[in-house]
Amino acid sequence: MACPENSFHRVIIVGAGPAGLSCALWLKKYGVDDVIVLERAVFPRDKCCAGYVTGKTIEAYRALGLDPADCGYSLIEDFRIIHKGAFRQKIANRFLYTNRRIDRVELDDAFFRAAKAQGVAIREDGAVAGHDPENRTVTLKDGTVLSYGTVVFADGAAGFGARYRTKRKRNIAMQLIVPTDRPDSIEIHFGIAPAGYGWVSTFRGRTNVGLTDVYREDADYRALFRDYMDRCGIDADIELLRGTFTPIGVGKAVLPGDTYLVGDCLGACDPMTLSGLRYGLASGERAAKAIAEGDGRILSRYADGLRVRFALMRAMQVVFYTRPVRFLVFDVGCRVFGGAVAYIFNHFFVNKK
Ligand SMILES: Cc1cc2nc3c(=O)[nH]c(=O)nc-3n(C[C@H](O)[C@H](O)[C@H](O)COP(=O)(O)OP(=O)(O)OC[C@H]3O[C@@H](n4cnc5c(N)ncnc54)[C@H](O)[C@@H]3O)c2cc1C
Repeated sequence: MACPENSFHRVIIVGAGPAGLSCALWLKKYGVDDVIVLERAVFPRDKCCAGYVTGKTIEAYRALGLDPADCGYSLIEDFRIIHKGAFRQKIANRFLYTNRRIDRVELDDAFFRAAKAQGVAIREDGAVAGHDPENRTVTLKDGTVLSYGTVVFADGAAGFGARYRTKRKRNIAMQLIVPTDRPDSIEIHFGIAPAGYGWVSTFRGRTNVGLTDVYREDADYRALFRDYMDRCGIDADIELLRGTFTPIGVGKAVLPGDTYLVGDCLGACDPMTLSGLRYGLASGERAAKAIAEGDGRILSRYADGLRVRFALMRAMQVVFYTRPVRFLVFDVGCRVFGGAVAYIFNHFFVNKK
């Protein structure tokens, strides 16, 4: 199909998640005009994510005109580490904020509306189904062809841009949300999946129960999840279960034809903790700066830094989930050096600030 008139945009961003909207808003700040965001869904849209944020994530949102406190974010103090169903350690939670619905729907919708209010052009129901880097065009599902100066793929771990990822390893992450009479608390469960952890997060009458693991094709994740719910004493309809992949490993950020990758599409999600919002927002900002200054190396350098950081987290993930290390951490460490374990957890694993 031929390009219709006014089909050229200086920058096309694919995906209106945190990474895509961050890129669009920073482009505005850097004075780059004629930017359009193409989004597959219509907001408010569902999103399989627990939506926990740290202080750093909150700062990043505030810099873009959104205060997560407006989505009812607050600290749940009661934070416990559980190993194979047994309580091991209480942590003084000063870093991990939960929103009132324990999901991402409200936060993403608020960010979408904040971006629109600041003049970002967003086309909803605009799924990208094709990309021609040589001719610098993207094709929408309805056949519309748009051409660009730069295209930024910010469409997540399973969007169109995911085909450009060279890293094949990934985590699976699943969750369901049910009404509850449990008290407000966050429980992190270890020993329930071979290379991952679970969470049971309860806030004001709703519980988000979730599980992540390094993905194995031969695993029965529904059965694993059902078993996990049984162990936690949660009775919920397994049909409510939602799951998706998160990336392991940072790929190439800048590809031929001025094609940039950010957020999950780039691999900007911590493979061990699953913290991805913060890195999605930051990679969006780096892409915007790279476009504004006409220097893709700005984004590539950010990706290089993340690659090293996440390679360390991945190495730690591999070591941490071996039996002897788990025995040392939970059966010796937590019992004998509980305070030290809490300190390490607070200061290292979950990005205190
Ligand atoms: C179960 C689970 C729990 C998690 N919990 C946390 C947490 O508590 N805290 C945290 O920081 N991170 C968490 N993460 C990770 C976090 O969800 C991701 O890292 C983050 O969403 C990445 O943001 P993004 O903008 O790159 O992609 P996304 O948020 O996935 O946004 C991509 C956007 O692109 C759109 N899109 C997709 N395909 C197309 C297409 N072809 N055309 C146009 N648009 C398209 C989608 O509709 C979506 O709006 C969790 C992940 C999972 C799976």
